[in-house]
Amino acid sequence: MINSQLASQSNGRSSGVPSDKAAGASLLVRGALVLDPALDPDPRRRDILIRDGVITEIGEIAPEPGIEIVEAAGMLASPGLVNAHMHSQSALMAGFGDSLSHPAFMWLTQAHTSRLTPEEIRLTVLLSAIQMLRTGTSAAIDHFPGQRFGMAEMDAVLGAWRESGLRVMLGMRFFDDEFGDILPEGMDAGAASVLKPQPLGELRALMPEIVSRWHCCENRLTVCPAPSHPDRCTDAALIFSAELAAKHDLAIHTHLLETRRQADMARERFGTTSLGRLEALGVLSDRWSSAHSIWLEDDDIALMARHGMIAVHNPESNARIGAGVMRTPDLLAAGVAVALGTDGVGANDNLAMHEAMRAAALLHRTSEPRARWVSAGDAFSMATAGGARAMRQPIGRLAPGYRADIVLCNLRSPPLTPLNNVISQLVFAETGASVETMIVEGRVVMENRRILAFDEAEVFAALADVPARLRARNADLFTQAERIVAALA
Ligand SMILES: [Zn+2]
Repeated sequence: MINSQLASQSNGRSSGVPSDKAAGASLLVRGALVLDPALDPDPRRRDILIRDGVITEIGEIAPEPGIEIVEAAGMLASPGLVNAHMHSQSALMAGFGDSLSHPAFMWLTQAHTSRLTPEEIRLTVLLSAIQMLRTGTSAAIDHFPGQRFGMAEMDAVLGAWRESGLRVMLGMRFFDDEFGDILPEGMDAGAASVLKPQPLGELRALMPEIVSRWHCCENRLTVCPAPSHPDRCTDAALIFSAELAAKHDLAIHTHLLETRRQADMARERFGTTSLGRLEALGVLSDRWSSAHSIWLEDDDIALMARHGMIAVHNPESNARIGAGVMRTPDLLAAGVAVALGTDGVGANDNLAMHEAMRAAALLHRTSEPRARWVSAGDAFSMATAGGARAMRQPIGRLAPGYRADIVLCNLRSPPLTPLNNVISQLVFAETGASVETMIVEGRVVMENRRILAFDEAEVFAALADVPARLRARNADLFTQAERIVAALA
């Protein structure tokens, strides 16, 4: 399908990755049905010209000599989906721990995700990337890691995302205060060694260094400060995050009020809500995107709207662990921007954004009047434009000036045959199985379902003995987790 040498773009791990500028050059996607929902919900047959990773023209375009061409007749071209909340570190946890409470889930997650070696971090990222590319996701916010971090972990995760070919915003996940919301009553936090708070002094040294090393050179890779949850962070750390973000024009990503216990504890500790505390600290802005955002009071929703914050809906994860239901109709009615995520594989088993879109659109239909339903268009917008806002990048549309993240779906597939209503079919019918080719930042990273950016077979082979190694290495954490889970039962 592609008439020039793509092998040279494939990323040898040792040789490093060619910069997007070198790889991007020019690309012509020819003859696809092009969907830009912001302009027209009905796709038209068009060509897409891309230069240096940016869409420069859409229409009937004569190819210039030597340009790389993707023949896309019989394909639907739509904007790459944005998974606005996931955790690469839990990529190996599919199917684990059915019917656990949130604290029990969190403790077992520590056992599964702590002390990963740099190579294991790389493998979890690439496994995540395989699943996302295969299901039409071109960009993600990775909230990483679950425990204290150093430069080695961040170099490993960002190097792997660079290798993956996806667009990623790495949320530097931190906490410098207690994980009080998941400790059983009366249990000493000291027992939870992997969740000892990371001193703010360490974070003040590390985070600016990570920004200067990684938030610099490639449009595909950005980083941001990312509280584990604001209530697991001190005032000083939250103020530091806001200042760092303002100084370097970064986003801020966080978990927010996933559980009722978190909401109750905030009231007890601060005399207000989690968001009320952040407002009093003066740190809220449109840089913030907050995963879950379930246990919000009316005033919180007003605050989010006023500051232009983005709520990241994770409908399947929230249902899987019984956390609650986000007030999506209220958020949309208040004008809050909503993005969509799967959450990590630990809480959600997969990273399939078509499932998340479908769940978001279906979730409120049995309890809300029709006028307040989340439409297919709303759900698709969350997974594209909403995610773009959370990542602070010009993506999520196929239009000149936007970065070229494009999904090509085969129109000869059951979910898209016949083409009745494209957006409804992408949300309600499609599973990701029709996705054939993925273009990220103007570079073909998967072609005819074969990943070009890295060696998929090598990833699966290298992963084979990782679970057993982790079990042995983290035997103390598995024992501790099982004790805490039993105490919580
Ligand atoms: Zn999460």
